[in-house]
Amino acid sequence: MTGKRADRKRGPSQKPKAVSSQNKNSTNQSSMESSPSSFVLSEETVQELRRSLLSWYATQGRDLPWRRTRDPYAIWISEIMLQQTQVKTVIPYYERWLKAFPTVQALAKAQQQQVLKLWEGLGYYARARNLHSAAQQVISEFDGEFPQTLERAIALKGIGRTTAGGILSAAFNLPVAILDGNVKRVLARLVAFPAVPNKALNQLWKLSEQLVDRQQPRDFNQAIMDLGATLCTRHNPACLLCPWQSRCAAYNQNAVSRFPMTESRKPLPHKQIGVAVITDEQGKILIDRRKQEGLLGGLWEFPGGKIEPEETVEDCVSREIKEELDIEIEVGDRLITIEHAYTHFKVTLNVFNCKHLSGDPKPIECDEVKWVTLDEIDEYPFPKANSQIIAAMREQAEQNISNT
Ligand code: SF4
Repeated sequence: MTGKRADRKRGPSQKPKAVSSQNKNSTNQSSMESSPSSFVLSEETVQELRRSLLSWYATQGRDLPWRRTRDPYAIWISEIMLQQTQVKTVIPYYERWLKAFPTVQALAKAQQQQVLKLWEGLGYYARARNLHSAAQQVISEFDGEFPQTLERAIALKGIGRTTAGGILSAAFNLPVAILDGNVKRVLARLVAFPAVPNKALNQLWKLSEQLVDRQQPRDFNQAIMDLGATLCTRHNPACLLCPWQSRCAAYNQNAVSRFPMTESRKPLPHKQIGVAVITDEQGKILIDRRKQEGLLGGLWEFPGGKIEPEETVEDCVSREIKEELDIEIEVGDRLITIEHAYTHFKVTLNVFNCKHLSGDPKPIECDEVKWVTLDEIDEYPFPKANSQIIAAMREQAEQNISNT
């Protein structure tokens, strides 16, 4: 269901130029030197950028729970949760997680279902599966201690270069650069970067490496993230409050809205999915666990799949259930319709009440199937869109009781 079966079956970038030529109208042209393929800031500029940013951070930096610790495990959890997710969403998840799994040993020993249940609603579930595997790696390969080199940190599952930089600088105060979405935006504006950031990452990494403060890397990295999150925001940046305003090429060229450069986006594909809420004679509901690989791997869901051209939703639901579970069902009335957007596509879930007629369900296209009661269903981790299906089932059950 969602996108799984859907997936299974079924402005030109410019070459970066020298900063000096880009900045010829800016007030800070003389402070930046460049080679044709990279940006190099003068030592005086670097010192001034570090000084002004750290001094701003000392009074304006955010007080966040993971900044009150030096425990690399807790910082690692926060860094993974913060990928693609806002701070205010992450805080309650982070706190619940550390209560349930206070150490890397506790996480390594947990069942995957417990891990996914705690992650439920946070999205991008590969992050949780990878965290779990990487915790086991830390135990087996590093004796339970988070590695203190970039090379070893990025060998852990789910840890890329910027996440490793975030953890190593925050936990051990090591001068390792970061380049998350906020930092890319800030740097692209700072030098009026003449390319789409993701098409010229090497230059931005070099810039971030050059800037990171050698004495205070922890504070510097936190500060540049805060600058991107609170002042140099995607829309309406607060340049008048910015500690880098006098050195910012985009600001000085009156061209902040042009940076970072972007590519025109194609509209997202939209998939129509038929979903079955199948009940047996005892009123138990059939759920299945998605395969480990791919989107939402390891989570539970209601079976279904993509509606083929010229097919009715009801025919799709019957066909998918026969193909995936080898059982016969009767498709009843529509329970709910849900619109949901993922990063690369949108789905409409057409959810139908169905009765089990015959056959024992087999996990042909999933890892496991189970019959559960409506009370037991909360023990299983489901993707976010499915929580609306469960809420609709509960509402329907209450109405049925009040009608009898
Ligand atoms: S001056 Fe504006 S555009 Fe430049 S870094 Fe500061 S907030 Fe961002």
